[in-house]
Amino acid sequence: MRIAIIKNSNSQSKTAAKKLEDKLTAAGFEMDLDTPDVVITVGGDGTLLGAFHRYAQQLDHVRFIGVHTGHLGFYTDWRDFEIDQLVQALLNDSGQSVSYPLLDVLADYEDGTTSHYLALNEATLKRLSGTMRCDVYIKEDFFESFRGDGLCVSTPTGSTAYSKSNGGAVIHPRLDAMQVTEIASINNRVFRTLAAPMILAPDEWVILRPEPFQDYLMSIDQFSITPQLVTSIRFKIASERIHFARYRHMHFWDRVEDAFIGAKQ
Ligand code: NAP
Repeated sequence: MRIAIIKNSNSQSKTAAKKLEDKLTAAGFEMDLDTPDVVITVGGDGTLLGAFHRYAQQLDHVRFIGVHTGHLGFYTDWRDFEIDQLVQALLNDSGQSVSYPLLDVLADYEDGTTSHYLALNEATLKRLSGTMRCDVYIKEDFFESFRGDGLCVSTPTGSTAYSKSNGGAVIHPRLDAMQVTEIASINNRVFRTLAAPMILAPDEWVILRPEPFQDYLMSIDQFSITPQLVTSIRFKIASERIHFARYRHMHFWDRVEDAFIGAKQ
């Protein structure tokens, strides 16, 4: 089994990553940053997001494992003091995995070019200055004219991230769904939006057709893009999925409770 270790820059992660690499090498695993079978991230959920984008072209054969150097995360099943147990689990590996949906984003530009992205958490569209005005279509049907700061389209695993801050629902990642949340929409006698999160079915897609301003900001997970003269952006559940090597199970709602509510009484 070829393993890549991706760490963030904090000293605790560097120490844990070094310890993990030494133990994996001693156990006979091959370290390979280019074509790994398993990618282990050491840091937080953000570190796993970064690694996902680094290996996005290899999703068909890569499984991910997240080691957290702080609290337990949504993409991280292991803590940095559990390295010995993780190495043992890898030695006993029989290919077990769990997979989650991703978001497919296709942007069309006025000059006829297109860009294609995959997001693990979410994609957003905002304007750098001024109100964003954009028509929202579900499949090919006009749904609403949006005015406000922006719109966020998230995956189920991304529902506990930015989407939740926008008032979105927390979605169990076993569901094939995507969620649209509004970022500070304007709702008054003149402008009207749904003003509620929207959860779409697997065979549906959303198209945003923004007014032709020059200053849009599109984000894909932690990356920001300033697309010039974007005419439409289509969001749908991707055909690709992210696979995690899952050696032990933690209930999703326990994770949610741990992250957002805290110790049970
Ligand atoms: P960051 O700004 O350094 O950290 C964002 C925080 O979100 C971190 O605490 C991170 O956890 C956490 N996080 C990431 N994915 C998560 C998930 N699926 N569920 C719950 N929490 C999650 O940026 P980053 O670490 O590179 O992460 C980028 C993400 O930040 C974006 O995808 C977006 O979801 C989120 N974000 C949120 C807001 C907001 O809530 N207002 C605004 C902008 C961006 P760790 O500490 O474990 O890394």
